[in-house]
Amino acid sequence: MVLSLLAGLVLLLLLIMTTRTLMQGRSKTSIRSLARTIEAPGAIEVLRSAVQCKTISHQDPTQTDWKEFTRLKELFAQSFPFCETFRIPSGAGPYNQVYRFPGENPEALPFLLTAHLDVVGAQEQAWTHPPFSGTVEDGYLYGRGSFDCKIQAVAILTAFESLLTEGKKPSRTCYVAFGCDEECNGSLMGAGTIASYFEKQNLQFAYILDEGGVVSQRYIKGFEQDIAVVGVAEKGYMDVQLSAQCSAGHSSTPTFPTALGRVGRAVHRLESKSMPARLTAPVKAMLESLGRQGSFAYRFLFLNSWITKPILFGVFSKNATLNALVRTTVVPTMIEASDKSNVIAEQATAMVNVRLLPTQTQEEVLLWMQKVIDDPAVKLKVVRFTPASEVSPAKGEVFSHLANTITACFSNAVVTPYLMLGATDARKYQNLSNHIYRFTPVRMDKSEVARMHGVDERISEENIRLAVTFYATLIQS
Ligand SMILES: [Zn+2]
Repeated sequence: MVLSLLAGLVLLLLLIMTTRTLMQGRSKTSIRSLARTIEAPGAIEVLRSAVQCKTISHQDPTQTDWKEFTRLKELFAQSFPFCETFRIPSGAGPYNQVYRFPGENPEALPFLLTAHLDVVGAQEQAWTHPPFSGTVEDGYLYGRGSFDCKIQAVAILTAFESLLTEGKKPSRTCYVAFGCDEECNGSLMGAGTIASYFEKQNLQFAYILDEGGVVSQRYIKGFEQDIAVVGVAEKGYMDVQLSAQCSAGHSSTPTFPTALGRVGRAVHRLESKSMPARLTAPVKAMLESLGRQGSFAYRFLFLNSWITKPILFGVFSKNATLNALVRTTVVPTMIEASDKSNVIAEQATAMVNVRLLPTQTQEEVLLWMQKVIDDPAVKLKVVRFTPASEVSPAKGEVFSHLANTITACFSNAVVTPYLMLGATDARKYQNLSNHIYRFTPVRMDKSEVARMHGVDERISEENIRLAVTFYATLIQS
C-alpha cells in the first residue's frame, strides 16, 4: 500500500516536471537586423599603439608610471578627433578619460559605456612576442591589454568616431568612462573618482555596460550554439587573516603545537571543506534561460531546479568555474611565520581569500570558518571586504534590448544572464543605475579567454570588427 502510494507520487512528480519542461519550449528571440559590419582598419592600428602604452597599474599609485596614461590620452585625442570635442576635460581624475556624447532625444535618460585603461604586468620571457610591442601576426594582435580591456575602449571610440563622421548622433545621450586602476582592487582613483563625479551631478543612467562575459564557444557540453554570457551581478570580495601566537623557543627544544602548526592545521581544515551550495538569482536566471534554449535534457534539468538542485550541485561541484557559481569560495593564498630556519615563530599568519555569493553575509562566512577551523587559538581578522554587487534585472526592456543587440551582431548566439566571478569597475557605479551589465562583445573559446592576465594575450582582427559593430549598433538603437 505504502509502496504503491510512493510510486504514484514519484510518477506524479515526473509528470509535473516533464510538463513544465515541455511547456517552457524554446524562446524565440526576435533578431532585429540592426547591425551592419563596420570595417575598421584604423581600429587595429590604434589598438596596436594603445597596447604599446605600458599602462601597468600598481596598488601603491606612486609605483605607477602615469606618463604612459598621458601618452594613451594623447593617442586617443589624435586618433579620434571628432570624439575629442566631446571629452569632459577635467573633474573626473587626471588619468581617467570621460566623454559625453549628446543624443537626439535629450529628455531620455543617458546611458554609460565603460572600460579600463590599466593593465596587469607581464613576464616578458614567457611571451612569443614582447607583451608591449603590439605585434600583429596571422590575424591576431598580441599584447598585454589587447583583450583586457583596451579593445573595448578603442572599439567604443571607433564606433563613435565613425557615426560622428557620418553626421549621426546616438539616440540618447551617452557617457563614456575609462578608469585608470581597475586592476588594483579597492583603489579609488579610477572608476571610484568617475562615479563620485557623476554622483555630484545627480546623474542617473538608463543602463551601464562594463566589461564582462564574452560570446563563448563550446561553453557547455551539448550546446552547439555560442553562448553570450551577460553579467547581471558580481561576487563579493573578502580577505581574512588567520593568526596564532605561541611562546617562541629555540628550535632545538621545541614544544607543540607551534603557532605555524596551528595556522597550518586551520588552513588544511578550510581546504578540506566547502561552504554549502546556494542557487542565487543570477544563476537561477542563467539556468532558466539556457534551459529554455537547450536540448530536452537541459530543459528538464535546468527548468526544474526546484527539484533537480542536488543533481546540479553535484555536477557543478566537479568543475572549478561552475562550483564558484553556486558557492562562496574560500581559499588560502599567503602564509607567514619565522624568517629563520632555526627560530620558532612567535606568531604565524595566513591570508584567506573569499569570494561571496550575492545574499551571503560576511558574518555567515566568518562563523562557518570558525566552526571549520575549530581552534579558539586561531584568530580571524577581516582585512578587506566588498560585498557582492546588487543584482540587475535579467529580464525586462533593458535586458531584452541588450540581448537583441547581441544576437543582431553575433548570429546564432544564445544570450544568458550570469554571475561574474571576478571583480570589475561596475560595482563602483552601483548608485548610478539599477541596470548594470557586464559584457565584452567578442567571440572566444575558453583557451583564448585564459590568455587574459596570462601569457600571449591577444585579440583577433575579426573580434576587433565585431566589437566595433556591436557598439555602433548599441549606440544607434
Ligand atoms: Zn579588465
